[in-house]
Amino acid sequence: MSEWESVIGLEIHAQLATTSKIFSGASTAFGAEPNTQACAVDLGLPGVLPVLNRGVVEMAIRFGVAIDADIDHRSIFARKNYFYPDLPKGYQISQYEHPIVGRGHVSITLDDGATMEIGVTRAHLEEDAGKSVHDRFAEQSGIDLNRAGTPLLEIVSEPDMRSAKQAVAYARKIHSLVRYLEICDGNMQEGSFRCDANVSIRRRGESELGTRTELKNINSFRFLERAINHEIERQIDLLEDGGAVVQETRLYDADRDETRSMRSKEEANDYRYFPDPDLLPVAITDDDIERVRASLPELPEQKKTRFVDTLGLSADNAEVLTANRDTALYFEAALEAQPELAAPIANWVLGDLAGALNKAGIEIGDSPISPARLAGLVARIADDTISGKIAKEVFEAIWQGEGDADAIIEARGLKQITDSGAIEALIDAVIADNPEQVEQFRAGKEKVLGFFVGQVMKQSQGKANPGQVNALLRDKLKA
Ligand code: ADP
Ligand code: MG
Repeated sequence: MSEWESVIGLEIHAQLATTSKIFSGASTAFGAEPNTQACAVDLGLPGVLPVLNRGVVEMAIRFGVAIDADIDHRSIFARKNYFYPDLPKGYQISQYEHPIVGRGHVSITLDDGATMEIGVTRAHLEEDAGKSVHDRFAEQSGIDLNRAGTPLLEIVSEPDMRSAKQAVAYARKIHSLVRYLEICDGNMQEGSFRCDANVSIRRRGESELGTRTELKNINSFRFLERAINHEIERQIDLLEDGGAVVQETRLYDADRDETRSMRSKEEANDYRYFPDPDLLPVAITDDDIERVRASLPELPEQKKTRFVDTLGLSADNAEVLTANRDTALYFEAALEAQPELAAPIANWVLGDLAGALNKAGIEIGDSPISPARLAGLVARIADDTISGKIAKEVFEAIWQGEGDADAIIEARGLKQITDSGAIEALIDAVIADNPEQVEQFRAGKEKVLGFFVGQVMKQSQGKANPGQVNALLRDKLKA
C-alpha cells in the first residue's frame, strides 16, 4: 500500500430541468441557434429585473430532502462579480452565505459491496453563464449566450472520498438521485451534469489536508476516474521529487489524457460577493418542505430494499437494477407483465439485455425489446415451452423486430419437445448409432453421458427438454 493517501471533494453542477430560465421566461432547450434564447434579463441589460422561477426552488428542496439536508428557511441570492467574455453583465447570480440546501449526506456502495457515507456540504442555486465558441470562426472566438441564465444546482461535497473509484461512485449516486427526483436530465454530453474534482494528497495517518488542485472540463464518469488518478500520480511525483503542489485549476484534456494548468491561486478572482439588491430572500416554510417530502418518488435506496425484501432479489442485482432510474423503470414494467418472475426477469435485464444494449450502444430507455416482450420471453422459459438455450435465439429474433416470443416460437417451430415418446425415439437412434460409447458407459465411464446428451440435443435441434433427455438417457443406457 502506498504511503500516500488521496483526498477528493466534488463540486457538481446539475442543470435543473425547467423549461424556462432561473430569472427570466427565456427557453432552456438545448441545441438552438446561438444567441436566440437569451433575453434582456439573461444579458443583464440596464433596467431589467430578475424574477425567480418558482420551479427551481421546488427542485432544490426536493434534492435537499432526498439527501436528508437542512433546508434554509431564508436563503439569499448574491452577486458573484467577475469579468469574462461569456458573462457580459459582469456578475453571476449565485448563493453564498445562505445556500438553499445545507449539510446533508448520501451513501455510496463500493465494489466490494461495502457502503460509505459521503457528506454534502451544501447545494446552492445559481445561473449558468454563456459559452465561448472557439471552433466556428478562424482566428476569432464567438460567444453564445443561450446558456446564460440556465438554472443550476451546485452540489458541493465534503472532502470525504479517498480514491477515484469512490469519487465516481459518489458522482454516480448524485447522478442517479437527480434523475430519480426528475430535477435534471443528467445528460453529461450536453453539459447538464458537470463534475469538478478537487484533489489533494497527504501522507497516510496525517490529519491536515494537503494543498489541492481543482480539475475541470470532465464530461464522463470514465474521464472523471482517469483525470483524478492522473492528478494523484502527478502530485505524488511532485512531492517525492521534493517539490510542492500549487493550488490551481487544471483542465482535463480527454484527447491527450492529461491535465493542464488553467489558472493558479495568485490569479484567482476576488468575487466581491454581496446580496443581490434586485432579489428578495427566498422564504421557505416547514409546510413547504413537508409538502415536497410527501411528493417524493421512491428513491433508489428504498427501491433496492424493497427489491430484496419483497421480491427476493440478491442485494447485488437490486443494487444494479436501481442505480439507474431507467433500468429500474424497465424492470418494474416487465415485472408488471409477469409478477411471479422477478428473479429470472432481473437476470435477463442485467444479463442478455444489458449486454446487447451495451454492444449496440443503446440506452435501456430506447431498448428495441420492450419490457412486456422480455417478460413474455422469460415466461416461456419458466413454463418450459422453450429451453434457456433456445431462448437466446428467440431473444435475438425479438431484438430484430420479428414479434413477441410466442409468435417467434410458433413461426420457427422452436417449442420444446417434452413428449417422452418423441425423446425416447431420438435416444434409441443415438444409442444404436454409437455402440462403442455405449460399451464405455457400461464399463463405468460416466463422462460419456455428456456425449449422448449432446447428440440427442443436436438431433432435436436443441428443442428436447434437457432434464428429460438426461433422465431418459440414464435409464436406457443402464438397461
Ligand atoms: P472553493 O470555494 O474554492 O470552491 P471550497 O472550500 O468550497 O472551495 O471547496 C470546494 C471543494 O473542494 C469541496 O468539494 C471540498 O470538499 C473540496 N476540498 C477542499 N479542500 C480540499 C483538499 N485539501 N483536498 C481535496 N478536496 C478539497
Ligand atoms: Mg469551487
